[in-house]
Amino acid sequence: MGTDSVLCPVCQGVVPASGKDSYTASRGRLIVTNGYCAGGCAERAEEAAEQTRQVARPRTMPSPAPVPGAAAPARAGLRAVR
Ligand SMILES: [Zn+2]
Repeated sequence: MGTDSVLCPVCQGVVPASGKDSYTASRGRLIVTNGYCAGGCAERAEEAAEQTRQVARPRTMPSPAPVPGAAAPARAGLRAVR
């Protein structure tokens, strides 16, 4: 409990404190080990995810579609015969 809200989920840096209560010993240690979060990580991560999604889409083209009309029922019948 605790450290998750203190650490940035993206860069694992310590997010800026919102008040005096946020300054604790464990938080100070985390700042030393992880450093501060530069901010805007969530937005950047979202942007990156969007870009990878856009890049991935054309590569994952649907496999050549079966001839329209000669659809699943016929195949299923062949499979059943074999
Ligand atoms: Zn961050």
